[in-house]
Amino acid sequence: MQFTDTETQTLDIDAAQLCQQYGSPLYVYQGSIIRRKVQALQEAFSGVTMKIKYACKANTNLAVLRLMRELGVELDVVSPGEFEMGKYAGYAPEQMTFTPSGVPYEEVRTAVDEGATVNVDSISLLEWFGQTYGSSKPCLIRLKPNVTAGGHDKIMTAHPDSKFGISVTLLDDILAFVNKYSINVIGLHQHTGSDIKEAEPFLKAARVLFEAAMHFPNLQIIDLGGGFKVGYKPDDAVTDMQHLGAEITEGFRAFCARYGRELQLWFEPGKYLVSECGYLLTTATVVKEDPARTFVHVDSGLNHLIRPMMYGSYHHILNTTNPDGPLKTYNVVGYICETDTFATDRELPEVRPGDVLAFLNAGAYGFTMSSNYNARYRPAEVLVDQGEARLVRRRETLDDLLRTQIDL
Ligand SMILES: *Cc1c(COP(=O)(O)O)cnc(C)c1O
Repeated sequence: MQFTDTETQTLDIDAAQLCQQYGSPLYVYQGSIIRRKVQALQEAFSGVTMKIKYACKANTNLAVLRLMRELGVELDVVSPGEFEMGKYAGYAPEQMTFTPSGVPYEEVRTAVDEGATVNVDSISLLEWFGQTYGSSKPCLIRLKPNVTAGGHDKIMTAHPDSKFGISVTLLDDILAFVNKYSINVIGLHQHTGSDIKEAEPFLKAARVLFEAAMHFPNLQIIDLGGGFKVGYKPDDAVTDMQHLGAEITEGFRAFCARYGRELQLWFEPGKYLVSECGYLLTTATVVKEDPARTFVHVDSGLNHLIRPMMYGSYHHILNTTNPDGPLKTYNVVGYICETDTFATDRELPEVRPGDVLAFLNAGAYGFTMSSNYNARYRPAEVLVDQGEARLVRRRETLDDLLRTQIDL
């Protein structure tokens, strides 16, 4: 099966063997795909000074963070926990941008005092930042450009009703605080949403930023966020990175000429870098032939991969142990006592109990959104890189569930 993206979404890992060795269910990540994605992004923007700030909420496994660091990719973090994990993976605070969403100011203080740069996301945080630091620390301002973009209501972040960022219509208020406290604004930021495949939404938001930028004389950075779309279905339209890179480069260069100085262009991709590298491998437990439908249960559920239930994401499924079986139509469901449907009316080669089903596009927002619901353990994670499979997180045990409870 050929995806329209550069990636061929046939497995070149041995799913059954990995499950046998490390147990099922199992998250597996392919380092080669992360390497290719980073390279594609770098090549698409080779005409400007571009920095990649990996939005690590997509996948915070230390092995993934370390691989990003090795590839020259810096981090965008959204919490003190991610900041600490970044440091643990070898990042200097200066290499991390903290993009909070209404967090306690003390969290911002800790990150900024250590050397991270903050993306200020509200007028009140801007005022606090000015009172606390004056002009002594640099910051970026997260603007809400009031454009609609993204693949689903829950993952659009720049429309007028979104909670994220400071509405660009409040520019006068922003400038008043910036002037009052001589705040050192070195960048403007926006993150429009997720699953954007065309250059146009980026450019529409970018144009809003470019206009606003003319009011800030000390800028070094324009940060256009993340949100590049990846392929989910075999015939999905995806971001043509080369084309998008060329269009944004042209717009950005024209802006720099107008601004009077060359600025850095930053992106914060999450999904683009790690979605396609990851698979959730599961084992079919029960095949239930109901009069209405045939259900395939797997040994996983919304506790391990919640994206389909949370915002309707599509995950392609491969029956890795019976790839040539006759096609049948299934509802693929989990084992959680809750309706946790992974896929409805999905054609798959006949599934028998024990077959290993691979869910594709599970590298982003998979493990990081997992939980212990139903007192289930989180799965192990394996990184396959440069010809070697390596366990990078062990499977949880009962001890992990009990560790924080106080048994009086
Ligand atoms: C989540 C997030 C991203 C990454 O979004 P993707 O759709 O995974 O690329 C980038 N920037 C910010 C501020 C985010 O919160």
